[in-house]
Amino acid sequence: MNSVSSFLETPVEYLKRVGPQRAEVLKKELGIFTYSDLLHFFPFRYIDRTRFYKIKEVSEELPYIQLSGKITNPRILGQKRGMRLVAELSDETGVIELVWFQGIKWISKTLRPGIEYIVFGKPSVFNGKFNISHPALEEKTDENMELVKGLQPVYSTTELLKLKGLDSTGILKLQRSLVPLAVNYVNETLPEWITAKLQLMPLKEAMKHIHLPAGNEMLAQAQRRLKFEELFYLQLNMLRQKINREAEVKGFTFSHVGKTFNDFYNIHLPFPLTSAQKKVVKEIRRDMGTGKQMNRLLQGDVGSGKTLVALLNMLIAIDNGYQCCLMAPTEILAVQHFATLKELLAGMPIELDIITGSTKKREKKKLLDKLETGVLHIITGTHALIEDAVKFKRLGLVVIDEQHRFGVAQRARMWQKNETPPHVLVMTATPIPRTLAMTFYGDLDVSVVDEMPPGRKPVKTVHSYDNRRSEVYGFIKKEIEAGRQAYILYPLIEESEKSDLEDLVSGFEEIQKAFPAYRSAMIHGRLKFAEREKIMNLFAKNEIQILVATTVIEVGVNVPNASIILIESAQRFGLSQLHQLRGRVGRSSCQSYCILMTPYKLGSDARARIQTMVQTTDGFEISEQDLKLRGPGDLAGTQQSGVLDLKISDLARDGIIVKQARIIAEEVLAEDRELRLRKNKIIALQLARLEKEKGNWSRIS
Ligand code: ADP
Ligand code: MG
Repeated sequence: MNSVSSFLETPVEYLKRVGPQRAEVLKKELGIFTYSDLLHFFPFRYIDRTRFYKIKEVSEELPYIQLSGKITNPRILGQKRGMRLVAELSDETGVIELVWFQGIKWISKTLRPGIEYIVFGKPSVFNGKFNISHPALEEKTDENMELVKGLQPVYSTTELLKLKGLDSTGILKLQRSLVPLAVNYVNETLPEWITAKLQLMPLKEAMKHIHLPAGNEMLAQAQRRLKFEELFYLQLNMLRQKINREAEVKGFTFSHVGKTFNDFYNIHLPFPLTSAQKKVVKEIRRDMGTGKQMNRLLQGDVGSGKTLVALLNMLIAIDNGYQCCLMAPTEILAVQHFATLKELLAGMPIELDIITGSTKKREKKKLLDKLETGVLHIITGTHALIEDAVKFKRLGLVVIDEQHRFGVAQRARMWQKNETPPHVLVMTATPIPRTLAMTFYGDLDVSVVDEMPPGRKPVKTVHSYDNRRSEVYGFIKKEIEAGRQAYILYPLIEESEKSDLEDLVSGFEEIQKAFPAYRSAMIHGRLKFAEREKIMNLFAKNEIQILVATTVIEVGVNVPNASIILIESAQRFGLSQLHQLRGRVGRSSCQSYCILMTPYKLGSDARARIQTMVQTTDGFEISEQDLKLRGPGDLAGTQQSGVLDLKISDLARDGIIVKQARIIAEEVLAEDRELRLRKNKIIALQLARLEKEKGNWSRIS
C-alpha cells in the first residue's frame, strides 16, 4: 500500500515529538522507519468516547464508559496474590472505586492524587459497590480532551514503547500531527473503474478516517476501502501466479488408467468408495491428465477416507510409468501410512518402502538406490524425503498429508526433484474456512471429500468436570468390558514443561490403579521412536486397552476399535486440535465417545471451545468457529507462511469483502492477464511495488 514520495519516505525521527530515541524504539518494536510506515500503522480497534458519564449514572449494565474526576486516597491492600491498588474517583455526583491487580508499583508511582483525570473502563459490582478495574487513565488536559473526543483509535504498543511515552495515546498524538499532512502525498492504488464500481472511498480519505475518524460511517467506509485493497492485491497476486504457472510450467500427462489401477479397483478394494471419494478421484485424475502441473488441495474431515483417494491416484501415476511419494508430518503417521498401503496393496506387484529419520544408514543407502533406479514405485516417509540425497528416477506424484505441519518452502523443494515438477496433492484434515482457503490457498485447486464412509455414527461428546472422574472411569470400564479400547489424552509435553510430564505420569499411575484388570501404556514425544511404535502396535492389536498419551497421536492414527477418548485439561487445547483428537475415535460403525475434562472454573474462550465441540462434529463449522475465536494468525499452519500478514482485514469477519475482492481479481485477470491495459496501469504499478516490499510473495506454492 506504500506510495512512493520523498515526503512519505522521510525518516520518522523528523516528525514532531519523535526524535532519535523514540525513532529507535519505533523501528525496533514496530518496524516503523518512515512517515509512510507510521501512516500504514493502523489502529486495531476504536472506542467510543463521545460521551462523559456522571458517577451517579453508573450501572452494571453499562459497557465501557468514560468518567472524569479527581483521584484520591490511593492505597495498596492485601498481600501476595491478593495484593491490589485501590483509589477513589469522585466527581460532583458521587464516588466510585478504581482497582488495579497488576502493575501496582508503576501505577501508584505515577498517580497524582488531587488532579483531574479522564477515566475509561467497565464498571462492575464488588461487595455491593461499583468499581472499575484496570481503567485507562489520562490527565484531563485540553490536549487530552481533544484527543479522546469521539471515536478514539487504539494502537497496539509494547512495554518498551510505553516507557518512551508511546502508549496508544502517545501514538495517536503522532498520527494527529502526521496524518493531515501526509495524506496529501498518498497516491491512489486502485483504478477508478474499481473504486467507482464498488463505491470505495479514495485512498487519501480512507487514510485520514482510519486514523482520525469523523464518525462511525466514515470509519466504516475507510475500513472497507482498505480491507478491499489488501485482499484484492493478495488474491490478485496468488491468482496471477497460478495462471502464470499453468501457462509456463508443463506437467506430466497421465494419459491412461491401466492394469495396476484396474486390478486394485476390481480385486483388492476393501470396500466400495463413497460417492465423494469417487468424485474426487476423478477430479484429480482429470487434472493430472491435462498436461498441466497439478497443485491441488484435498480437504476432507477426519476419517473421510483421504488415504484411499491418494492411493488410487498414485496407482494411476504408476500405470503411467511414474513413481510416487507420500509424505507425512510425523514418524508415527508415516509408519502407519506405510502399514496401511502395504496391507491394501498386498498381492499387487508394487514395490513400496519407507524412509524416516530413524532409517538405518545401510538400509537407507539401499533404499535410495532403489528409488534412483526406479525399482521402488511408492515411498512413504517424513520430511526425511525432502533431503537432497533422496533422488527419484521419475517422480510423478507427491502426496503431502496433513499439510499444516509442512511449510510452504518444503512443498517447493519437492518440486525440484525432477526437471518437470511432479504433480502435488496436499491433503488436510483440518478443514479450512472458505475465506481462508481463498486467500491462503488461493493458488491451489481444491477438492473436497464431503461425505463419511457409510455407517459412521457421530462421536458423542460430553463436557465433564474433574470432580466427576469416578463416574467417567466407570463409563470407560463398561466400554472396555464390551471389548472396546480407550485413549486418555494429556496436553503436549514440551522439552521445558516438566509439570506436563508429571501430570501425564501421575495420570498414568492413577489409570493403572483404577483399571487393574486391564493393560495400559503411556506414550509421549520423549520416548524413543521404536518404543512408541511398539506401544502403538500393541494398542492396534488390542493387547493394550488403555493408551495414556500426549498429542503424539493427534493426527492420522487409526485404531478403529478404540471407542473412547478422554481429553484431560481440555481447556488447554485449541479447537482444531480437539477436533483432530476426537477424530481418533468414531472410526468404525460402533458408537464412540469423547469426554472433555476440565476444571470447574473456565475462561470464556475455553468454555466457548468446549461448547462448540459438544454441539457439533462438523469440521467446517468447527474451523469457522476457531477462526472467530482465535483469528487467522493462529490457525494451524498459517503462521509459518508469512502470507497472511494482514494489516487490516480479518478473515473471520470480512468474508464478504474477500469474495468481492476475489471476483474483481478474477475479472481483471480474465480480461488483462498481463496487466497491460491502460485502465489497469495503477494495478500493475502497485503490484510491482508490493512485490518489492514482500519478497516472500513469490515463494508461495
Ligand atoms: P482420513 O481422511 O482422516 O485420512 P483415512 O483415510 O484414515 O481418513 O480413513 C479412515 C478410515 O475409513 C480408515 O479405517 C479407512 O480404511 C476407512 N475407509 C476409507 N474409505 C472407506 C469407505 N469408502 N468405506 C468404508 N471405510 C472406508
Ligand atoms: Mg489421514
